[in-house]
Amino acid sequence: MAKTRYARMYARIFRILGDLTPLRADCGQLCGGACCKGDAETGMRLFPHEESVLPVTETTDGGRLCVCSGTCDRNCRPLACRIFPFFPTVDDRGRIFVEPDMRAARLCPLLSNAEDIAFDPRFFRAVKRVGRILARDPECLAFLRAATEEIDTFAAFLG
Ligand code: SF4
Ligand code: SF4
Repeated sequence: MAKTRYARMYARIFRILGDLTPLRADCGQLCGGACCKGDAETGMRLFPHEESVLPVTETTDGGRLCVCSGTCDRNCRPLACRIFPFFPTVDDRGRIFVEPDMRAARLCPLLSNAEDIAFDPRFFRAVKRVGRILARDPECLAFLRAATEEIDTFAAFLG
């Protein structure tokens, strides 16, 4: 039952994000698709119960990673890939913000050259909506809180 509920939630989230990306253009041309160059040991962290909507992915227990070979069916990619390199962070009052995911700061040129880039505001509005939907689910809210803490730690470390 919970699986169906999560499947519905992620289907809605994926519809909201649609084809939106941080830029109107393909940012992979800036970096040669650096964020899709994982290997068998690395992957994108799945959101809680996201495996209920991902058709063919390898997941590891505990870490819940989606491991890919650097190519995928774009329509079936994980949420982390769809919002990368940004993240819906949450504050103590439960308010959602969309912030650079500083865990990706060394990898992604969108974060290191942010001031020179014309971002697509529709993407950020969509990620905020997504964050609000996730925050209504206690497990997803806990996941957002933990990630926010991690992102803040990275931001403080990177100065
Ligand atoms: S690393 Fe950043 S700039 Fe490169 S493809 Fe991924 S999101 Fe785009
Ligand atoms: S699942 Fe797709 S979008 Fe995500 S890292 Fe792998 S190839 Fe890139």
